[in-house]
Amino acid sequence: MRVSLFRHFPIVKQSAVLFLHCALCPSASIHSFFASSVLSVPSALTPFLLFLHAILSAEMDADLQFMQEALAEARASASAGEVPIGAVLVYDGKILARSGNRTIRDNDPTAHAEIIVLREAARLLSNYRLANTALYVTIEPCSMCAGAIIQARVPRLIYGADDPKGGAVRSCFEILSNPSLNHQVEVSSGVLAAEAASILQSFFAARR
Ligand code: ZN
Repeated sequence: MRVSLFRHFPIVKQSAVLFLHCALCPSASIHSFFASSVLSVPSALTPFLLFLHAILSAEMDADLQFMQEALAEARASASAGEVPIGAVLVYDGKILARSGNRTIRDNDPTAHAEIIVLREAARLLSNYRLANTALYVTIEPCSMCAGAIIQARVPRLIYGADDPKGGAVRSCFEILSNPSLNHQVEVSSGVLAAEAASILQSFFAARR
């Protein structure tokens, strides 16, 4: 007769599955937090940890998926000779608008990827306020785009790499977290940052 440790001790199975999942997933530090937590907390807390992990994991997976789409827009911009930054605007869990930078093609200094998707989404929703949306962009937004995010009341911003030469979320300015504003944006940074930065670096290296 085969004895299953997992069958007799379901909590062992839960912990083992969670640990393996987290240990095998290199995409986010939250996984390593859960992987270490599950081994150190009393087993009675494991179901709670699993529940919390499931919620956070689903959001992180969605963030990674949408950021991949923004990266695809960045690559398309590079092919068109534009500075490779891409953005997607998500509404109700679906992509409503997507674009890369178009400043050179359109002779328009305001045609950053973020501005284009905000305009397109507002047009599609027939509303200049973009409630229940999330903006994904490969590089930290500049001051113009951060201002537009506030004007549009975008509730959530997810970006990849920081921009030390113009980023207006935390690198050069901290526009979104200014306490004088009555709109607060929830910000997640560093999502697929290495890939976003690498696309930008390759683009500029090829032009030198
Ligand atoms: Zn911008």
